[in-house]
Amino acid sequence: MFCYLPISSEDATNKLDFIGFLRENIGEASRVKNSSLTFERYKKQLLLEEIGEEGQKMLKNSSVVIVGCGGLGSIISNCLVRAGIGKVAIVDNDCIELENLHRQMLFDEGDVKGGLPKSVAAAEKLRKINSQVQIEPIVAKVTPENIEGILKGVDLVLDGTDNFDVRFLINDACIKAGIPWIYGGVLATHGVSLTIIPGETPCLRCLIPELQPAVDIPTCDSVGVLGMVITAIASIEATEGIKLLIGKKDKLLRKLISFDIWSGTYQLFEIEKAMDCPACGKGRFDYLNKKNLKSS
Ligand SMILES: [Zn+2]
Repeated sequence: MFCYLPISSEDATNKLDFIGFLRENIGEASRVKNSSLTFERYKKQLLLEEIGEEGQKMLKNSSVVIVGCGGLGSIISNCLVRAGIGKVAIVDNDCIELENLHRQMLFDEGDVKGGLPKSVAAAEKLRKINSQVQIEPIVAKVTPENIEGILKGVDLVLDGTDNFDVRFLINDACIKAGIPWIYGGVLATHGVSLTIIPGETPCLRCLIPELQPAVDIPTCDSVGVLGMVITAIASIEATEGIKLLIGKKDKLLRKLISFDIWSGTYQLFEIEKAMDCPACGKGRFDYLNKKNLKSS
């Protein structure tokens, strides 16, 4: 189908583009090609009054970065690619190991044998799931030197990491750039999540003022983790992310959610904004400036 100058054809092109046709600009004209995968795939999501057609269009025009593609990141990326986010970048430097498979839902035994980096293997899987999403694997450790470049221009950052060194760095970079981010963490059967919007909500350093010595913090390596709690917290992060991306900020939790999947209990904690917070209060970005940063 070719559309030449009239406004009506431009309008028709926009509508076809919106429902999943592929648009190609040729000079002053537009060509619209039928895609084998149309907006039909989002039919049940479009029916939701929480999202609807306008929300779906906003998701398509959104870009996110997922830092870490382990348990949390593999599920967050799966959820968001299936939901139709326009552009998803996945940052991870690790390769897939056999012990990852009980919780990292994107990967299989073939990936372990293949020895690919997680972000590359994830991108290959996710492109097969939804070819309409632009997926960028970034094989890198997140560092004070590269994080601002990685996050530049994105609408949202989601936490798929397993350590606070990187989370404090994400917090600094996001507060400095004014990018919302969603913190998530799991341990054993328990998980937490907090949505952080610079200038509006408390930040990670309002909750935890300083990075604690690694020896004082139990980890999944020392006490283990139940795969299902990762799925739950990753789903909370992805849901909060979608609310943010479609402008439903009034529906955000705006509290720290603490959830134990084994006991089936959860609590919501009001977090106060710390007036003396180095990051969101004083604009001092210690971790971005490499101070106190031991590793990432
Ligand atoms: Zn703060």
